[in-house]
Amino acid sequence: MPAKSMEELVALCKRRGFIFQTNEIYGGLQGLYDYGPLGVELKSNLKQAWWRSMVYERDDVEGLDAAILTNPEVLKQSGHEETFTGPLVDCRSCNSRWRADHLEKSACPSCGSKDLTEPRPFNLMFKTNLGPIDDGTSFAYLRPETAQQTFTNFKNVVDSTSKSLPFGIAQIGKAFRNEVTPRNFIFRVREMEQMELEFFVKPGTDEEWHQFWVKNRLNWWSKQGISEEKLDLYDVPKKELAHYSKSTIDIMYKFPHGLEELEGVANRTDFDLGSHTKNQSGLSINAKVVKNTSSNAKLAIQDRETKEWTVPYVIEPAAGVERGVLAVLNESYEVQELEDGKERTVLSLKPHLSPIKAAVISGNIGKSYRRHDEVGTPLCITLDFQTLEDQTLTIRNRDNMEQERIHQNETAAYLQEIIK
Ligand code: ATP
Repeated sequence: MPAKSMEELVALCKRRGFIFQTNEIYGGLQGLYDYGPLGVELKSNLKQAWWRSMVYERDDVEGLDAAILTNPEVLKQSGHEETFTGPLVDCRSCNSRWRADHLEKSACPSCGSKDLTEPRPFNLMFKTNLGPIDDGTSFAYLRPETAQQTFTNFKNVVDSTSKSLPFGIAQIGKAFRNEVTPRNFIFRVREMEQMELEFFVKPGTDEEWHQFWVKNRLNWWSKQGISEEKLDLYDVPKKELAHYSKSTIDIMYKFPHGLEELEGVANRTDFDLGSHTKNQSGLSINAKVVKNTSSNAKLAIQDRETKEWTVPYVIEPAAGVERGVLAVLNESYEVQELEDGKERTVLSLKPHLSPIKAAVISGNIGKSYRRHDEVGTPLCITLDFQTLEDQTLTIRNRDNMEQERIHQNETAAYLQEIIK
């Protein structure tokens, strides 16, 4: 049974050093969080699991780690300058500001008033100056998604790896969105990390690959311990689709605050490569792209046999690391009643995600067990007087609380078996 409320998770995260509010000693900064000693490990384990399944276990995917600061021209051509907006409304009663599409019953969440201004578009991208002079002309955007830096590196990756279709480029990294109403703990933040794969395919095979990636991603989430009953698919209706998408399937998860998007799997067509390429008219691009006079690269791939140039279609599974961490924490959190009438809080994290794989303890054993249950440590190893006599140890299992005595020489093999 997962957490009953977000508050329980927030409290555990603070108490045990998973997640803290940024700059809390100065009153915090909205929509920003820091990962503490255990949180940084959990987050890194989730990212590693993604990287392993996307890059190391596949022959057709290469990795990339690109810059966060982005040339404005990139986000102009990609359509983000014009369309990456949220509808903003002000409450005339209490002067608070909200995203119109996040309001329930068109009322101000702060005071309940329905006296709101008309929605107006607000661009979600952060800007910063480049160089010492702040004259408004030399600026960069903080990337709102990792994807655009992948598209602008398409030719570099193809030329340096000789890939042919279908193949993908995977990237994990920070992205920034000036969300009007960051909320629900780490669910909607202004500084986040994304795990995005851009998978390039031959036009015409895109729908098949779209289905493939939806299934693949559902399967991956289930390997991270997310139960199938809590996941759902949402076929995004045409009128809600992002400007680049032909079709998007959102993988939804039942978070403590409701069923919401965990990951989006989009068919981005040839929109992005088509938008960033030079000589667009010489290539058959299906998407509606804006004329590009500034790119110096042809973002197309040549078939080795037919020698024909193709602008590939892109299937993009895009997941948020924070939402992944929140889902994994929620899913594994449980308060259990024990036979002796006491309670224990346990995080039954999959061992590969646990920040601590095994804890070696001696003394104050009961208290140490509880502490490690709460942070999801799968095994506790206890040394006692008998260890000195016969070199045996007690291994205690987090999930069933059973204890076994094994010889110390068997410990490594035992741990490997549990943690693999
Ligand atoms: P939403 O509709 O919830 O704002 P989105 O559809 O704009 O999300 P995408 O652009 O598809 O999100 O981004 C891919 C993934 O990045 C999302 O599925 C989500 O996991 C994550 N993500 C997007 N915005 C945020 C945010 N503000 N905070 C945390 N994670 C985010």
